[in-house]
Amino acid sequence: MHSPAAPHPPSYYAATRSETVAFSPLCDTVRSDVCVVGGGFTGIATALSLAERGYSVTVLEQHRVGWGASGRNGGQMLGGVPGEARLERLDSGAYADSVFELGYRGHDIIARRVQQYGIDCDLKYGALDVALRPRHLERQQRMYESLCQRGMEPQLRLVSAADLSVLLGTDQYLGGLVNMRNGHLHPLNLCLGQARAAAGLGAAIYEGSEVTAIDHGTPAVVRTAHGSVTADFVVLAGNGYQHLEPALFSGLVFPAGSYIIATEPLSPDEAASINAEDLAVCDMNEVLDYFRLSADRRLLFGGRCHYSGREPRSIEKAMLPRLRQVYPQLAHRRIDYAWGGKIGIVVNRVPLLGRIGANVFYALGYSGHGVSLSHAFGEVLADAVTGSSKEMDLFARVPHRKLPFGQRAGAQLVALGMLYFRLRDWL
Ligand SMILES: Cc1cc2nc3c(=O)[nH]c(=O)nc-3n(C[C@H](O)[C@H](O)[C@H](O)COP(=O)(O)OP(=O)(O)OC[C@H]3O[C@@H](n4cnc5c(N)ncnc54)[C@H](O)[C@@H]3O)c2cc1C
Repeated sequence: MHSPAAPHPPSYYAATRSETVAFSPLCDTVRSDVCVVGGGFTGIATALSLAERGYSVTVLEQHRVGWGASGRNGGQMLGGVPGEARLERLDSGAYADSVFELGYRGHDIIARRVQQYGIDCDLKYGALDVALRPRHLERQQRMYESLCQRGMEPQLRLVSAADLSVLLGTDQYLGGLVNMRNGHLHPLNLCLGQARAAAGLGAAIYEGSEVTAIDHGTPAVVRTAHGSVTADFVVLAGNGYQHLEPALFSGLVFPAGSYIIATEPLSPDEAASINAEDLAVCDMNEVLDYFRLSADRRLLFGGRCHYSGREPRSIEKAMLPRLRQVYPQLAHRRIDYAWGGKIGIVVNRVPLLGRIGANVFYALGYSGHGVSLSHAFGEVLADAVTGSSKEMDLFARVPHRKLPFGQRAGAQLVALGMLYFRLRDWL
């Protein structure tokens, strides 16, 4: 018997997890309809969709379920698909309705599962985009009009700068757009709760089980250090931590760091004074800040993506100036947690959803926008296993350019690209 996987890395979420599932490593040879590589939202949501349809499914996670971005993120459940304008332009807008529907489908999947499987993940509705520049206000107005055309007017509200300073207790922003269809949640508990549900329906989940190789074929054989899974279908769901199939992914998707700090719990009055309606807040910069209150009234403040692959020496020191710029009144508040994780960035921002050969499917590269979308993609991947690949065929039509010189040099190029976006934010 091999030792169990190490615990989740320290974070507010790891400290407040309420779901207690744990799974042993794979040390056997098993047969399954589907083998899923990666136990984040994408992998677990896919496994649950398949288990709900009666498939036998095995999940292999190198560390713990929810160990990656899915257990560490800002918890903001936001609609839309990164790079959606490119998808909508295909065939003169023929797929615009499908892309819009896909952008919010994950919300419905999450809401249904939270209820059906009794997942306690602090799900709350309401999110707010805030403008820092006049051009953000113009974009906000366009977003508002376009969402109204989609029938979402009752869930939307434009907020003036004056009202925003009351709502958020800061005068940093020029205006905002509230969207009550979006929301926020405790991502680690959501991920673990779905793993519990999938296991309850017969899915076999193994932690501490890094996939080292895939022997392609029908069936395929997925190998770990101490076992293997023979499966008719394989789903790759490693996102920013993925290193398999380098011939396809090298130069296409890059890991980028994003970081969060959590204050000590605020008093009820203090919490109300900085976020009266308990909204998930995102600014509209390309390299953005995002923040919200936790269920126990901490301010979770995140942002400052960097693309070099290097960790800041102190996440707290790197993040505190931003938090204090927005909320100088919280300068006396202690920081209890600081952590980061990797998001998968695709150069043109359109997530990678596709197949290798006939029976290996993949979804990754949500560019920091995957809480909801990974759940929609989980369903799309399960559909692909069952033979229906409408969305997959659509995404396959978006051309992706590979950065030259492989992953390492590519990451440096993306770092330069980020610097470019940062400069654009400042101008
Ligand atoms: C700090 C931070 C804040 C974020 N905030 C938000 C937000 O507020 N809203 C939002 O929508 N998105 C946010 N994101 C992005 C979001 O978290 C991701 O898009 C989403 O979680 C992706 O899920 P995933 O399952 O594809 O990837 P991950 O959760 O990263 O899971 C991939 C898993 O695959 C495993 N794995 C990789 N390779 C192997 C292998 N060879 N063998 C076995 N296992 C393997 C990894 O260990 C990992 O557990 C944030 C991300 C970060 C890091």
